[in-house]
Amino acid sequence: MKIICIGRNYADHAKELKNDLPTEPVIFMKPKNAMLLPGKPLYYPEFTKDLHYECEVVVKLGKNGKFIQEKFAHKYYNEISLGIDFTARDVQNELKKKSLPWEIAKAFDGSAAVGEFIPLNAETQINDLDFQLKLNDEIVQDGHTRDMIFNINNIIAYASRFFTLNIGDLIYTGTPAGVGPVKVGDKLEGHLVGRKVLEVDIM
Ligand code: MG
Repeated sequence: MKIICIGRNYADHAKELKNDLPTEPVIFMKPKNAMLLPGKPLYYPEFTKDLHYECEVVVKLGKNGKFIQEKFAHKYYNEISLGIDFTARDVQNELKKKSLPWEIAKAFDGSAAVGEFIPLNAETQINDLDFQLKLNDEIVQDGHTRDMIFNINNIIAYASRFFTLNIGDLIYTGTPAGVGPVKVGDKLEGHLVGRKVLEVDIM
């Protein structure tokens, strides 16, 4: 399986990091080893002093596909959750300055925390879901899928032009504003439409 991630997909977050708004989805990937399974803690990596959380809606692919048309994209996923795109912001900023790839800042072991998946049903309005991230019981991110610059079906259609999408692949759909640092001892908790689906302790 692979993990496809979208950067700068919420205008308010692009602004907080002083990035321009993208005209096409910004895609990067994380390897399978980046996945942090539900309930597992993240051990603070030794190579960063500024580890950030980015809470994102995560979609799991339920069907293989290539060159998927946007109007059929909804047939390719049937489960949704929240995840954290952990980012070594200090390392990323250095790489960005040099126009180098981001992998060591974003694709390291444990950098893709994922919550429990919820099956979608016919009533689920995928572009009308709210989600929150709590840091030590305080809401730090409050997002809504309607605020995505590229919605989930746009992303699937675009990504599948370049990469065959496979059953079990995960798509991290970008983070809203409110990203920030974590420290050892912190607890992150993600709520999707009022339901707690994600919990990560930083150790
Ligand atoms: Mg992100």
